[in-house]
Amino acid sequence: MPESWERPAVPSLPGTGTAPRLHDTATGARLCSAPDDIIARLYVCGITPYDATHIGHANTYLAFDTLQRVWVDAGLEVHYAQNITDVDDPLLERAAATGVSWRDLADQQIELFRHDMTALRILPPQDYVAVTEVIDEIAQAVAVLLDRGLAYRVPTSDADADDVYFDISAAAETSPWRIGEESNLDREQMLLLSAERGGDPNRPGKRDPLDALLWRAAREGEPSWPSVLGAGRPGWHIECSVIALKHLGHDFSVQGGGADLVFPHHDLSAGHAAALSGHPLAKVYSHAGLIAYQGEKMSKSLGNLVLVSELLRECVPAAGIRLALLAHHYREEWEWTRAGLDEALARLDAWRGIRSNQHGAVALDVLDQVRQRLADDLDTPGAIAAVDRAVETGVDDPALIRALVDALLGIEL
Ligand code: ZN
Repeated sequence: MPESWERPAVPSLPGTGTAPRLHDTATGARLCSAPDDIIARLYVCGITPYDATHIGHANTYLAFDTLQRVWVDAGLEVHYAQNITDVDDPLLERAAATGVSWRDLADQQIELFRHDMTALRILPPQDYVAVTEVIDEIAQAVAVLLDRGLAYRVPTSDADADDVYFDISAAAETSPWRIGEESNLDREQMLLLSAERGGDPNRPGKRDPLDALLWRAAREGEPSWPSVLGAGRPGWHIECSVIALKHLGHDFSVQGGGADLVFPHHDLSAGHAAALSGHPLAKVYSHAGLIAYQGEKMSKSLGNLVLVSELLRECVPAAGIRLALLAHHYREEWEWTRAGLDEALARLDAWRGIRSNQHGAVALDVLDQVRQRLADDLDTPGAIAAVDRAVETGVDDPALIRALVDALLGIEL
């Protein structure tokens, strides 16, 4: 397993916080994120290593970092797993376009991501799993789905090699899942998004255009691995189902990711996992909003990425980047601006200058307010406002404010 990255120290605070209620994408309700036992289990989809780490990635991992910090403050243990999609079409296309080997590109981008996560003081996963490490297990899971009649073969131009697809109708009849359950989209919207986000609704030979690729038979010039299914490589969604089930089991606390993963990736990952285990994948499906830049969604193809590594190279303090992101609720869709970053840097300076004032705010009350705001669907703007008020008046115990800002917002003052 690749190493994740260095875990920042998290100071403990007086008293105990509360596990947050989280907005659940599937039901639209705020659900309690507390596990039945002491261990909160979290799966967040990792990067496809070709455009790491833009500010949108940082926002997603920061959202689930905040969740972990609030869980820890509530006295819970956290078991966190994350994948790396280190073989997939976008990575291969990027490698071909730049004349770099896909493996070198992936390794270099994984290293960059790890560096950025360390700088941003994001709590690391205990299980950090590259897809290329678990190809056998994924192929075996696909074979199980074939055996159960929940998957089928689609011939390729090579008579000896079939692709394998997930049969969404068969799966809906036999497992606690139906397509669109997590995303709540109608069929037309799903068809559109499937075409936009790596699916192939028009592939001839499929039973339903929304059936998702589980296994891609080897093609000339593409990496492939031998397996029980013959040579090939996994589809995108099944990798997360298999890694999550292996490390966290089913019905885990929270499946998380950016809002652009809701469909098809998360919907189908949950579907594959339900077809394999007979249980829902997770209890809460949580998604971070997408960040725009210069009026458009941030994306490699539009060339409008704001990279964490570039900001760090300009000597922007990582704590300032964190504070600029935390000033927005994690589900909000917003636009990154230099003015927003400058505001965060000014706030960081003000917080670092917090005054001791025995007639000012009571630090324990501030802690209570911050805990309340974070327990309410991780309201970081509300938590920041509570600290701002204490900084304005001065506070009886500045050390406690520094500790709570470090423990709950991940910012060292
Ligand atoms: Zn995933």
